[in-house]
Amino acid sequence: MSEAFVIVGAGQAGVQIAETLRHEKYTGPIVMFGAEAQPPYNRPPLSKKFLLDRPDPATLAIRGTEWLQRKQIDLRQQAQVVAVDRERREAVLADHQRVPYAGLALTTGARLRVLPLEGAQLRGVLGLRSLDDALQIGAALDHCVASGMPLVVIGGGFIGLELAATASKRGIAVTVLEGLSRLMSRVVAPIVSEAAANLHRAHGVRLLFDVKITAILGHEGAVRAVQTADGQEFAAGCVIVGVGVNPDDALARAAGLDCERGIIVDGCSRTSDPLIVAAGDCCARRCADGSLLRLESVQNAVEQGKAAAASMLGMSKPFTAAPWFWSDQYDLKLQMVGLSAGYDEVVTRGDLEKSAFSAYYFRGGRLIAVDSLSRFGDHMSARKLLDRGVSPTTAQVADESFELASLLHAPT
Ligand SMILES: Cc1cc2nc3c(=O)[nH]c(=O)nc-3n(C[C@H](O)[C@H](O)[C@H](O)COP(=O)(O)OP(=O)(O)OC[C@H]3O[C@@H](n4cnc5c(N)ncnc54)[C@H](O)[C@@H]3O)c2cc1C
Repeated sequence: MSEAFVIVGAGQAGVQIAETLRHEKYTGPIVMFGAEAQPPYNRPPLSKKFLLDRPDPATLAIRGTEWLQRKQIDLRQQAQVVAVDRERREAVLADHQRVPYAGLALTTGARLRVLPLEGAQLRGVLGLRSLDDALQIGAALDHCVASGMPLVVIGGGFIGLELAATASKRGIAVTVLEGLSRLMSRVVAPIVSEAAANLHRAHGVRLLFDVKITAILGHEGAVRAVQTADGQEFAAGCVIVGVGVNPDDALARAAGLDCERGIIVDGCSRTSDPLIVAAGDCCARRCADGSLLRLESVQNAVEQGKAAAASMLGMSKPFTAAPWFWSDQYDLKLQMVGLSAGYDEVVTRGDLEKSAFSAYYFRGGRLIAVDSLSRFGDHMSARKLLDRGVSPTTAQVADESFELASLLHAPT
């Protein structure tokens, strides 16, 4: 076999790279290594419908085995790449096999942060990143339902809140312990946090803020409670730790690629080695102003994957679209576009009472981001406005009768 394009990591970004290579008419060999036992699957449903409906895991597939075969993408499952030998241009596998590459893509994703706490290793203390994690959580929630024991969620971010919603829908008593003063505080404005908090409370979820956790307590090796600094104990049949992830850049670091909070890439997903690209959760993108941007989203994995494949083929197709993300909690669809960090004004549009509104973030009078709560139309028009660099005024946003999408057709 002639030297292949080798992809390390068979997730969202890895599959996208393989797909784009074929789409761009690359006919040479593609080998994709995946550490997991399952063929590539979508992670978003794991914290949402998957734990409610319990569908066959095969329904999560990004691309089925048949498609991979048809596209002649050589997927090697349960195959962990343990090193990249840049001098010899080889990927090294756990079984010492060496696979030469013409070009290499690193799409290794991210790893769950673990709490440096006594009791964090107890049975029933779980995190959610993979399908295997979700199956374990499913069994733990079954245990809570059967025993009447509550669930404690550590962390009021997206995944913690989605799991809280899922568990409460199953009739489990849920407490969310958040270290900061409001929900999803790193990414949304207080008004959005408040709407989400109201929604969770209306479903009976207990929310506690500014909580410092001191230990997870067990009995006979299994979790029984979470202890906080003020001496309270929260009984738990299961504890879900949702305190974020770290980029999995270990291979890249060991190979001497530039890394800082992830593998550093440019807008075309190129790393500091011209033969190596990287995409998805493992990366930090160097922006035009020199800052590093790390995103964890399907859109980012897909778009960086497309850019990476183009770079492997010697083309330059940078990822420039505004970042977007979504989260489902109960019947609420929260959709975010743009980056709201550094905003100086927030204007809302819609019905705050019914939690069907959008928050428009401005900096220096220009629109930089929009969070929409069950307002799909706002989200879609905001994506177009931000992508085209068209900014409404705050007055236009505040005036519900003004059609924001009309700005897209106005002469600039
Ligand atoms: C529960 C959950 C819910 C989510 N919900 C949303 C959502 O609602 N909206 C949204 O936009 N995003 C969501 N995300 C985020 C989104 O799924 C990720 O951003 C996306 O999967 C990143 O893709 P990736 O290819 O970078 O990484 P991954 O999909 O994590 O794939 C990386 C793969 O590489 C493998 N790997 C790592 N190292 C090696 C190695 N050395 N050798 C071989 N294989 C290796 C890993 O095992 C893994 O399978 C969610 C994520 C999770 C976990």
